[in-house]
Amino acid sequence: MSKEKLDYQTKCKEILKSHNVPITRPRLLLLEILLKNKGPVKVEDVVKLSNGRLAISSVYRIINFLKSYNFISEFQTLDNTKVIELLDQNSHHHHIFCKSCGLITDIELSEQLESLLQAEIQNIEFANDISVSAHSLELFSICTRCQI
Ligand SMILES: [Zn+2]
Ligand SMILES: [Zn+2]
Repeated sequence: MSKEKLDYQTKCKEILKSHNVPITRPRLLLLEILLKNKGPVKVEDVVKLSNGRLAISSVYRIINFLKSYNFISEFQTLDNTKVIELLDQNSHHHHIFCKSCGLITDIELSEQLESLLQAEIQNIEFANDISVSAHSLELFSICTRCQI
């Protein structure tokens, strides 16, 4: 086994362990695919990238299970394709969607804007007597490749 492959497996095991998720081969495999592909991956591509080792039904099962641990996020592209991505616990980001090809790019907002959002969310929580668990902000554009 190559050193690179071992590194990915070690990292994936650490992620599962740090969230107290029991380690299983399919969970490791799914995380490995997400880790290698940095950024959002379509659920159908996860199946392809697993080279037949994960069926679509098991991918959905694993996602539904792991979602509650908050290190994986699931969202939809503009054409309603499900994508998932691994969340980095230390950095929070948002997405730009290309309205032409669907490319998803990660972006980080300024700390200033994030703290304003945070303050606004607290007001909203108070006004509505709810607790907000997360926020997302999506930008829509045409990517540089599609502008040509
Ligand atoms: Zn594009
Ligand atoms: Zn944010």
